Amino acid sequence: MIEYQRFLTKGSKPFNPLELAKETEDIVIKDDARKYTAFYCTGVYGGISTGYTVGCCLRCIFCWASPSRDFPEKYGFSVSPEEAYNRLMKNAIKRRVKRVRISGGEPTIGKNHLINLLEHLRKRDVLFILETNGILLGADDSYVNELRRFRNIHIRLCIKAGMEEGFESRTGAKGEFYKLPFIAVGRLVKTKIDFHVAAMTDKRIISKEERKKMLKELAKVGYNDWIEEETIAPYDMTIKRMRSAGMKLFNTLSQSD
Ligand code: SF4
Repeated sequence: MIEYQRFLTKGSKPFNPLELAKETEDIVIKDDARKYTAFYCTGVYGGISTGYTVGCCLRCIFCWASPSRDFPEKYGFSVSPEEAYNRLMKNAIKRRVKRVRISGGEPTIGKNHLINLLEHLRKRDVLFILETNGILLGADDSYVNELRRFRNIHIRLCIKAGMEEGFESRTGAKGEFYKLPFIAVGRLVKTKIDFHVAAMTDKRIISKEERKKMLKELAKVGYNDWIEEETIAPYDMTIKRMRSAGMKLFNTLSQSD
């Protein structure tokens, strides 16, 4: 039996992110309920009601998500789409915010859960922000079409690398899958869904050459718009993951070691 992929270590072997998505789905999805760790409002996007999901199909070394990303069987509680909707709206109303999202893991894992949640939200005057790594939107050609039915959605697709080698060393997934997020961007461009691209382009881990290649790949699939460029933030979880993978970017942990 193949062991479930945890955080990266120096000796980690590259994995297939689509297989990891399936294995993760088997752990975090039961019928159409999904595991979450918490629901609350945060200040990003000018205030947004957020549900924090469990589970992802990548293992980015710069990821700040809680340990539930690596040990999904140990964390979280199961929530139906209706209950997720109720919790998101309750917090949104309480804090008077007009934006909601699910974050913390990869929200596209568990398609039925996401689509059913969106069905509930479509009757409300709120914007749903879908933050995704684009792996499943690139692999499943029907996914983007299903999302385009919803008018109150904005997608933030985050590109992790512009080259196979960078993708493999920083996400742990096999390099050959690095194109999937670009394929997803191409689909979003064609379907005219409201979206923008974010990209991890921190100079400390990505070369000028790779950044250039990333922009070239985006242009190739028809994206020439604004890019939200990300840098690595020194969260404790990020520092621990980077150290475990053999990369020392920050000298100390901010709170605890
Ligand atoms: S895709 Fe996002 S949630 Fe998943 S490992 Fe990378 S940074 Fe973390």
